[in-house]
Amino acid sequence: MRTHTQVAVIGGGVVGASVLYHLTKAGWHDVMLIERAELTSGSTWHAAGGMHTVNGDPNVAKLQQYTIGLYAEIERISGQSCGVHVNGGILLAGTPERLDWLKMAQARGRYLGMQLELLSVAEAKKIYPLLDSAHFLGAMYDPIEGHVDPYGVTHAYARAAQIAGAEIQRQTRVVDTKARPDGTWDVITERGTVHAEHVVNAGGLWAREVGRMVGLELPVLAMEHQYLITEDLPEFVGQKDQLHCIDFEGEIYMRQERGGMLVGTYEQACVPWSPRSTPWDFGQDLLPNDLERIAPSLEVAFQHFPRLASAGIRKVVNGPFTFAPDGNPLVGPVRGLRNYWVACGVMAGFSQGGGVGLALSRWMVDGDPGADVWAMDVARYGDWTTPSYTNAKVRENYTRRFRIRFPNEELEAARPLRTTPIYERLQSQNAVFGEYCALEHPLWFAPQGSAPRELVTFRRSNAHPVVGEECRAVRDAVGLLEISNYGKFEVSGPAAAAWLSSVMANHIPAVGRITLAPMLNERGRLIGDFTLCRAAEERFFLVGTYAAERYYLRWFERHLPAAGVTLRPCAMEYVGLSLAGPRSRDLLQSLVDEDLSSSAFPFMSFRPLDVAMVPAWVGRLSFTGELGYEIWVTGEYQRALFDRLTQTGRELGLRHFGGRALNAMRLEKSFGTWAREYRPIYGPYEAGLGRFIDLRKGSFIGREAAAAEHAAGGERRLIALDVAARDADAIGDEPIWHDGRVVGWVTSGGYGHRVQKSLALGYVTREVAYQTGGFEVELIGERLPAVRLSAPAFDPDGQRMRA
Ligand SMILES: Cc1cc2nc3c(=O)[nH]c(=O)nc-3n(C[C@H](O)[C@H](O)[C@H](O)COP(=O)(O)OP(=O)(O)OC[C@H]3O[C@@H](n4cnc5c(N)ncnc54)[C@H](O)[C@@H]3O)c2cc1C
Repeated sequence: MRTHTQVAVIGGGVVGASVLYHLTKAGWHDVMLIERAELTSGSTWHAAGGMHTVNGDPNVAKLQQYTIGLYAEIERISGQSCGVHVNGGILLAGTPERLDWLKMAQARGRYLGMQLELLSVAEAKKIYPLLDSAHFLGAMYDPIEGHVDPYGVTHAYARAAQIAGAEIQRQTRVVDTKARPDGTWDVITERGTVHAEHVVNAGGLWAREVGRMVGLELPVLAMEHQYLITEDLPEFVGQKDQLHCIDFEGEIYMRQERGGMLVGTYEQACVPWSPRSTPWDFGQDLLPNDLERIAPSLEVAFQHFPRLASAGIRKVVNGPFTFAPDGNPLVGPVRGLRNYWVACGVMAGFSQGGGVGLALSRWMVDGDPGADVWAMDVARYGDWTTPSYTNAKVRENYTRRFRIRFPNEELEAARPLRTTPIYERLQSQNAVFGEYCALEHPLWFAPQGSAPRELVTFRRSNAHPVVGEECRAVRDAVGLLEISNYGKFEVSGPAAAAWLSSVMANHIPAVGRITLAPMLNERGRLIGDFTLCRAAEERFFLVGTYAAERYYLRWFERHLPAAGVTLRPCAMEYVGLSLAGPRSRDLLQSLVDEDLSSSAFPFMSFRPLDVAMVPAWVGRLSFTGELGYEIWVTGEYQRALFDRLTQTGRELGLRHFGGRALNAMRLEKSFGTWAREYRPIYGPYEAGLGRFIDLRKGSFIGREAAAAEHAAGGERRLIALDVAARDADAIGDEPIWHDGRVVGWVTSGGYGHRVQKSLALGYVTREVAYQTGGFEVELIGERLPAVRLSAPAFDPDGQRMRA
């Protein structure tokens, strides 16, 4: 066994083997994989091996496409068969909502290059004779679905990596990992210590235990999962394989396994496995069967596919595999641990393992994953993901695996967990709450006397008219919004300004001023957008996306100088309220001694104010595009501030508003937001943020790449569209057509109540970006005409916010 290696990958399941292979492919050959038992001896060996390209997140779908395309390559290099069967799949819809969902999935597939086909029930029956037509309304055919042999795939990755120089140590358990002061690692195994420059935790079922070796509590939990294989059905024997099939209403997936059918379920009565810690002596073991638990799903299967009812059961498999709270993998470098990487929580190793290995290897070798992996970045979770939280969310996710997540749907597990001091005040105003980073925040305020509940739908909901009233109150008078759910950082010290200037693409504001500051990576792509407020010569306040707090911290800490800058995340220390609307100044002025006139306190100012006894930091800006203020206070003052603003505001027509109205209003202003319009696949000029990129100020991260994008013009453009929608607005991820061709995708959409237009923001190719007509947005199976807006739909000159 080597005693030194560039990378020690812990875990020889499909994911660890893929990481190992991809590292060698990226040019790192001095790498080793350490496996406790034999390869595949975690969750990998008993997997059903199914693979598919359809995923709710287009960026994850791309990585799934990559994975499936990879099998031919590793078979060729290794000489090991992966047992690939790509026989296509059929996704069945038993409800009108599911049919809509299929239409949307098909539409999304258009710009991903997927050939998905919608079928009538009769057409579905023709290619999938097992189904009983009475239970279905339609279907979708996906030619790229199939299954692989889990053993073959894992060994093919491993063998291909070995051919490129990787070492694999079997029967060698890692018992500890210890960081050295220089950021390298001692990986202590039962058979000696390996000094590694990097460690990858690909421990699968034991990823938690491996994480705990370095004090890390990873939000992963294993769930028991069962599938059964029927006796042979004589009509299948010797025939071409039946299609893969997902019956969402039955919560069943099926495929042919030799002459029988493999039937798996994501049952409602789900059971976590080893919720606190995974026993080290669990090997290639199965768990006891519990057919009772999956009986309700099987009953549906027998109705929907009557032929199954008379087939005997040949085998039942019950095995555990891991999930993160949202069901997506946990991948990437861990904040605060140098050279420590994770690739775990992969619940679909045969669709996603290749993409995970590719992204992680690029991240390690090039410093950047090379793709938009936000959906699976380990940094998307924070301190709130305790084991109990993870347990509740993973169980919820498991039971909803085949459920529709409506765009306006808020999930209920683990709630309420985090609340701000005014939570009860908002409740008494009949707030309908959403959850973000486990924090409750108001989405809209239901009329008093009605239940504070939003009906889930792909179309406009019962919130629509009320949100309209909230928007109009903000336009005509003044609205009050809680804005605590932002990420906040305090940056101070003699080198703070210089350092911020090196990580932010815009210039640094003068004391008492605010700038909007995009953050770029070395490739000149957008990795953040901040409101940068300067409180004093050496003190700054940064406001950004809360879900990206660890993502930002990881980046900031990597670039901090040895001395001169103190960086402090303070998201929950400062809670916030925002006032917006033409009467907002009158309201705030009545509680403040200082002059708030536009000349004394102009747009984009930032200063400490005594607001009716409450010490607050106040910024003069509003994401609504109206005259407005963002008011930040420490938690103990929030109730007093809320009460005073609410009471005083009453005679000025104050109305509480929530996140839904805010979203509608920022769309009317064409203001983008992180994770929608701004992501690491877009450049700042493509995103229309050119005016916030200061190429003249000197060097900053991403400057050269941004300058090159500026000179070349970029590939795409963010545009705003006025869509001829009727009862459903764009949500995001719908294709944008131009002159009969798909030219891009929607990033967000909604109804602009102040302008009475259905709006969408999205990226299109540069060639068509300056056309006005000829656009269409495909909404729930219909291509609706759309007109490009050459200026924001609401207050195009920005007079109102500067008033
Ligand atoms: C019943 C069932 C059906 C499934 N069906 C499918 C399917 O159809 N399609 C699909 O894509 N996925 C399916 N899965 C999920 C799939 O199995 C997982 O996505 C995949 O196995 C995850 O692989 P992994 O490498 O992350 O984890 P694991 O397979 O658990 O591998 C982790 C490895 O790390 C090793 N290890 C851990 N700790 C240490 C240590 N300290 N030292 C050394 N080695 C260590 C373990 O021994 C193990 O070999 C199914 C799972 C089950 C249970």
